[in-house]
Amino acid sequence: MPRIKVLPPDLRNKIAAGEVIERPASVVKELIENSIDAGSTDIKIDVLYAGKRLIRVSDNGSGMDREDALLCFESHATSKLSTEDDLFNITTMGFRGEALPSIASVSKVRIVTGLRGSSGGISIEIAGGVVKEIRDSSSAGTSVEVRDLFFNLPARKKFLKTNSTELFHIMDTVTKESLSHPHVGFTLITDNKETISLPSASGIRERIMQVYGEEFVSGLLGISYDAGELRLTALVSNTLNFRNMRSHQFIFINTRPVKDASISSAVYKAYEGILPHDRHPVFFIYLDIDPPRVDVNVHPAKREVRFENKEMIYRMLLSNIQESVREYRSEYARPFSQTAEADIQTGVTGGYPSFNTPSALFPQSHVVAEPLDFPYMPSIPFIYLGETFVALSGKGGLTIVDHHAAHERILFENLLKGVSLNSHQLLFPRQVKVSHKEYAIILENTRLLNDFGIDISDFGHDTLIVRSLPDAIEEADLRGILSDAASCLLENIPPDRSLKEELAARIACHSSVRGRQLLNQESISGLISDLEKTEHPDQCPHGRPTRLFFSLEDLKKMFKRK
Ligand code: ADP
Ligand code: MG
Repeated sequence: MPRIKVLPPDLRNKIAAGEVIERPASVVKELIENSIDAGSTDIKIDVLYAGKRLIRVSDNGSGMDREDALLCFESHATSKLSTEDDLFNITTMGFRGEALPSIASVSKVRIVTGLRGSSGGISIEIAGGVVKEIRDSSSAGTSVEVRDLFFNLPARKKFLKTNSTELFHIMDTVTKESLSHPHVGFTLITDNKETISLPSASGIRERIMQVYGEEFVSGLLGISYDAGELRLTALVSNTLNFRNMRSHQFIFINTRPVKDASISSAVYKAYEGILPHDRHPVFFIYLDIDPPRVDVNVHPAKREVRFENKEMIYRMLLSNIQESVREYRSEYARPFSQTAEADIQTGVTGGYPSFNTPSALFPQSHVVAEPLDFPYMPSIPFIYLGETFVALSGKGGLTIVDHHAAHERILFENLLKGVSLNSHQLLFPRQVKVSHKEYAIILENTRLLNDFGIDISDFGHDTLIVRSLPDAIEEADLRGILSDAASCLLENIPPDRSLKEELAARIACHSSVRGRQLLNQESISGLISDLEKTEHPDQCPHGRPTRLFFSLEDLKKMFKRK
C-alpha cells in the first residue's frame, strides 16, 4: 500500500503560511508590500490587541477588479510575474503569489477593493481558506482585514508573545517599510490610538528625520555613489555617534529591507580602529542594483538576497564609507594639527604647563593679520585637568586629550610598523623570572618580540634576560609586560585581531604606566603631532577614546544657546 500522499490544498497553504506568516507583524509586512506594489501613496494600518484580534491595511493604490479580487487568494496567483525570465528581473516587493492565500488559510479575512476611478467594487470574506461571502461594495483602493490570526492553528497561536512584544514587531515592520519607501505616507493606529504618523517625505533623509528626529540625523554622515548599475545612498554614524546596541542598522536592496552579513561587515570594517569593541555604528544603507544582478528569490519571507558580485559591493561600500569617515575626521582633527604645527613653528619650549602667548596656539598669520574665529582669545595653550587629561583650545573649539590613551595609540602603531621605537641596548641587561609556562611560550616567540624592539633571550631556570627595549617602555614594569605578552600568546585572541596586533596593544598599554609625570609644552606638542600622524588617532588600541572634541557649535548647544 503506498504511503505517499499528495497533500490537500488547504494543508499545503497552511504549510506555506508556516514559512511566511510567523506572527502578526508578518501579515502587516505582506499587506503593506502589496499596497506599495499597487502604487499607493498613503497606507493606513490599524491593529487591535497587537494584531492578534485585528489587522487592517487600507491603501489608495490601483485596487482590483472583481475577477482579480476573486483570484488573488488562489495559491501562486500573482500579477507580478508571468515568465521564468521575469523571475530574474523583479522590481516589485512581492512575486510569489503566496501571501494572501497563506494569510487566508490561517485567519478570517475580508477584502474590499475596487479599481481606481471606478465607482463599483467588491467585498469578499474568507475564513480558514473557505469563501464565506461575496458582495458588491464601493471602494477606491484596497482594504484587507485580517481577524483572529491562527484561530485554526492553536499550536502556532501558542508561540505568539505578549502584546507588547508583538506590537513592537509591528512597529518595527512599519518603520522598516516606511524607511524603504520615503515617498509613501504611513499611519499606524494601535487600539484606536495613532502610534506612527508619517506624511509622504521628499527623500530618505527627511524620512529618517521624521522617524528619529533632527538630532539623530545630525550625527550621521551622508554618502552617495552612482555607477549606473550600482547606486548607493547611505547615512552612517559619524565617529562620535556609536551605540551600545545593533539597533538602527538597516539595509535596503532595491527598496527591499533585508539582512546581509557581508554588507554589515563592510560597514564595520570601514570603522576599524575607530569603533570601540562593544560599540556599534548606526547605518542606513540603500543599494540600487540592476535587478538581474540580484536574486531575490532566496528566502521565503524575502529577508535575504543573493548578489551576482558580492565582493564588488563589499569593496564599493567599504571605500565609500571609509572615505566619508576620513573626511569627517580630518575636519574634526583640524584644530589639532594647527595647534601642534604652531607650537613647533614658534619653538615654544620649556617648563610645566605654562602661560604662553596665543601665538603658540595659532599660526602666526591668524594672530597678526586675521581676526580669530571667536571673539575671545585664550591665553593658555593647554591646561591639565587632573593627571590624565589635557585640555587644548584650537580654532574650532575645545579638545580634551587623555594623554595616556594617546601615548598608547602612538606606541601601538609604532610597534606594529616597527618605527620610531628608539630601541636601545640596556646598560645593565635585566633578568626577569617568570612562571615555567610563561618562560616556555616567550622563548618560542622571541622573534615576534624582537620585531617590537625587545631583545630577549634565555637565561635558564625560568629566567629571561632582556638586553634591549624601546624607549617608551624602558621604565615600565618589565615583569608585567612579559607576563601579559605570555598570556596573550597562550590565550585565544579576539578573531578581529592578529596576534601581533593584540600583543602590540598589550605592550602599548604598559607605556602609560610611567605616565604619572606631567608633560611640558614641548612634549604635549610632540604628542599631539605624533597622534595626528597615526592611522586611527581617535581611539587607544583597546577602543577607549584618546581625545574628545567639542566644536563651538556643540558648546552652544550644551549651553542652550542654540
Ligand atoms: P504577490 O504579492 O506575491 O503577487 P500576494 O498573494 O501578496 O502575492 O497578492 C496576490 C495578488 O493580489 C498580487 O499580485 C496583486 O495583483 C493583488 N493584490 C494584493 N494586494 C493588493 C492591493 N493592496 N492592491 C491591489 N492589488 C493587490
Ligand atoms: Mg504580496
